[in-house]
Formats: sequence, C-alpha cells, structure tokens
Amino acid sequence: MEDYIVSARKYRPLTFSSVVGQKALVSTLKNAINSGKLANTYLFCGPRGVGKTTCARIFAKTINCTNRGADGEACGNCESCKSFNEELRSYNVFELDAASNNSVDDIRNLTEQVRIPPMNGKYKVYIIDEVHMLSQAAFNAFLKTLEEPPKYAIFILATTEKHKIIPTILSRCQIYDFGRLSNRDIIEHLQYVAQKENVTTDPEALAIIAEKSDGGMRDALSIFDQVVSFTGGQVTYQKTIENLNVIDYDYYFRFTDMFLDKRIPESMVLLNEILSKGFDGSHLISGLMLHLRNLMVSRDACTLPLLEVSDEMRERYKAQASRCTPKFLYRALKICNNCDLNYRISKKKRLLVELTLIQVAQADEDDDSSGRKPKRLKPIFNKALSATTPVKPLEPVTAVTLQPQRTETTTPAKKSSIPIVKDGNIFTSIYNKRPSGRPDQPHGRQTVQVIDTHQHPVKPLSDETLRICWNNFAANLPVEDTPLKNRMKNCFPTVKSDTEFSITVGNRMMADEIRQASERIISHVRESFNNPAITMEIAVDQSRNVKHILTRDKQYEKMKEINPALKELESIFGLELR
Ligand SMILES: [Zn+2]
Repeated sequence: MEDYIVSARKYRPLTFSSVVGQKALVSTLKNAINSGKLANTYLFCGPRGVGKTTCARIFAKTINCTNRGADGEACGNCESCKSFNEELRSYNVFELDAASNNSVDDIRNLTEQVRIPPMNGKYKVYIIDEVHMLSQAAFNAFLKTLEEPPKYAIFILATTEKHKIIPTILSRCQIYDFGRLSNRDIIEHLQYVAQKENVTTDPEALAIIAEKSDGGMRDALSIFDQVVSFTGGQVTYQKTIENLNVIDYDYYFRFTDMFLDKRIPESMVLLNEILSKGFDGSHLISGLMLHLRNLMVSRDACTLPLLEVSDEMRERYKAQASRCTPKFLYRALKICNNCDLNYRISKKKRLLVELTLIQVAQADEDDDSSGRKPKRLKPIFNKALSATTPVKPLEPVTAVTLQPQRTETTTPAKKSSIPIVKDGNIFTSIYNKRPSGRPDQPHGRQTVQVIDTHQHPVKPLSDETLRICWNNFAANLPVEDTPLKNRMKNCFPTVKSDTEFSITVGNRMMADEIRQASERIISHVRESFNNPAITMEIAVDQSRNVKHILTRDKQYEKMKEINPALKELESIFGLELR
C-alpha cells in the first residue's frame, strides 16, 4: 500500500503569502528580511498547529534564496530553493525536535555543527521545535552557543509553552507570538484543499470541522482527512456530524423555540432523544451554550461579525435572535454555565441537565425584585404528558454503585459485605438510559465485582493478548457507540510495561474521544487481565497516517499508474470512466 500524504503535509505553505492567517506577523518577518536586519535568535510561540514551524521553514528558505523577488518571497527556482523544496534536503537548514532529542549530547552535536560555516548560501538555520522540552543541562549547554553565535547561524526556537523558557534565553530572542486561527481562515483553507483534492464539501460541514479544531490548522486538516476518508470524498453536513459525533445544530434551534414557548415537557422528550443516541449531557450543554452565545451576538449589527457561520445559518440565527430578549439570553447562558461547571462532580447528571433546561425555559420570567413575595413557579408538566409517559417501577436493586470498579477491585474484603443502596442510585435506576450490552455494564447498571487475585492469577500483558482484548471490547460496543468503535479499530494499543499500555492516535479530537471512554476501556482491560493496576496512556502523533479511501477517479488514476495497459485499453476503445 502506498503512503498517503496527509493534507497537513501535502498542503504545507511554501511561501509567506500562502501562510494562513498570521498576516501582521508574516509581514514583519518579510520586512526584516528585505531590510537585512536579521536577529540571531527568534522565538516563535503559540498554540499547536498554527504555523510556527511552517513560518520558520519559509523564513529559512527565503533568507538563503539567491534570487529573492521584490515582494520579499523566495524565488523557488534557485539552487537553494530547489534543494529546500525537495523535502528539506538542504544543507543549510537543520531541524531538531527537542521533544525527543532533549539531552546534553543532542545539543552538543548541534553546537558542533554550528561551528562549520555554510558551504553554499549565506546562512545556516537551526529550527528547534518544542524547545521547552530541553533538559536543564541541555538548556545551559545551548546558552553558550546563543551568547556568541557565528554570524552565519540563525536559530529559530519554537514552543507552545513560552512560560517554560528560562529568562536568560528569552532575553536573547526576538519573540513572535502566533495566534489561533479564526474559523473563517480555516474554512477558506479547507475549501482550497477540498478543491485540489476533488472533494465536495458543505459549508456547514467545514464549519463543524473548524469548530472542532479549536484554531489549529494542523488539527483541522487532520480531522478533514478523517472525514474525507469516512465519507469517500463527499463531505456532507450529516455525514460529518455522524463521524465527528457532533449534535445536529438543528436540535439547539428546536430547544430554543421550546424554551421561548415554555414547552418544557417537549424539551424533556427531546433531551431523551439526544441521550438515547449516545450523546453525553455535557455535550449538549456546551453546544447549547455556544448556540445561545451565537444568538446573543446575532442581535446586534456590531457583534454580528463575531458569528463565524455560513450566510444561510446567519439568517437562521438572526431570525431566532429576534425572538429572544437580552435578559433571556444572558440568564440562560448563566444557567447553562453553572450546569457546565457542576456537571463533572454531579452524581445525578441527567437530573442536572433536566433541571437546567427547566430553568432556562423560565429564564425570562420576572423575578421579584421587591423581595417580598416568594417566587411562584408555574406547573411544569401538564396532564397530557404524564398520561403518555408512565412511570417505570423501580426494579429491585441488589448491589449498585456509582464508584468506578477499580476502587472495588483493590479491596477484596468487601466481598462478603452487605450490598448497600445509596440514595443517588434510585435516580440512576429510574433514569437509567444506558443501553444493555455494554461490556462493562452487562445489565445496564454497574455491579460490584470483586476479583480475587488468589483464585485468578494476573495474566501477563502482551501486544497480542492486549489487541485481542481491545478488539473484543470494540466489537461488543452497542450501535450508538459506533464512532468510538471506528476510532478503536483505527488505533492499536502497545504494551509499555507489565501494568501500562499506550494508544497513539492521529489528532487531539480522537484522543479526547478515547479519553472519554477510557474508564470503560480500562476497566475492561483490568478485568480481562485480572490486574487492577493496569493504566492506559493516550498519545497524539500528527504524522500518523489515517487510512485513506480514494475517490473513484483517484482509484482509477492509481490503477493506471500501476498497470499502464489500462491506459492503452482506454485509448483503443475510447473509454471514459464515469
Ligand atoms: Zn530562490
């Protein structure tokens, strides 16, 4: 199988003008080059994937170009540019990833190289990525070089964590702060890439990807690749939200309409619908907050530019915003924010979300500012609803606990203790929407399991047994966990030690998804290996290629490359593949 080049690498900008966002910063860099006022050391800081390394490379290429254009861009044709374009086969540019090469010896190797003047070209450029990862000793060794660098050496240090750089180094650098990219910048670039790749896209789908990438282009492109591969080249809104596990924005519009009309029972039913699709309550609340925020900025022409959505969506937001009072929006946001803050610690998460929806629906009611009369709440449920939804009788509960299993496994003494029903669990059984069949919850609720390590000895972890266990877990996931199932199929656990294994995924979003299910996964693994001490680590590796599905045209192109006879066949019979 040939290597598929991830879009982030394939479409890495090669000139300053093609850098996405960072306009002011790029023009400052260009001016510095044009005026010949180059510093010895630069520090590029900012979040992940916003163009630090890319700008460093373009900078390195441009200062060594022998035929620089009047616009301050590298020519792309001279010897230096050519060697640079061939995947950095340039002798004048060195890259060091301090995340994996952070010892004193690594830095010594580098400083020894610095002493040798460039063979051709004017400058030798050293790009040190993730410079904050250098060890203290390495930092000290590096400082000596920074104090008296040769004229031809230029250092570009890049970091996501500026505060970790020691002041003695900071004071020797010219500092450039890279900002997060706006959704609009990201969407525009994704459109460009989609066009080049012959992929059809919905503006709404790209907006979702931009939202998920949190201002980082590398993440955006990685998520884009993932969606393209899932959808086979047709990035529609529906398929995108399906793959990215995003709640359809339509729900938020419906919720808000219900709040405004005080249709509280209906909003409870809608909540149930969302939860039964496998979404988490906190997911819904944070989505609702974003929606309310968007409504708020839609109310005023001067804040309208803050709304980063398509034109069609903008009209929808404006229409709904015209129905909302500022008081309603402000209070609703505040209520949702409270819910968001309390969600993690709440033991009755569903109830918390329901209560939040009820409060939001009453957010625009007058409260008694005189403070004399106690506030009267309107009845929430009408007869019609209570007649249609019979209350489920409480099942006899034998032993229920909300504690994660691992706390139980470490205390074998509990084996003989009498099961206790805690008050919080009455709610979990009434509101138990957890579908049965999850590997860790065979009956839809967690039961206390005690593992006696004397009877069942610990099974040793190995890559092979772990993968079998991992695949078993994924295979037994219920339908609503399909996104998780797909993620799990695409990553393979590796054993690190007797009690530790790690998972490497292609982007942060995938890591979050695995992390959300980590408790379930770990308890399954612990149980399978009879070892309560097993832990899991999740790592993100951007260079990891996603499995790519080629579009029909591309498949045919590839087939022709492999077998030229096809081309002949095509021309002899005048065929056209459609
Ligand atoms: Zn050139």
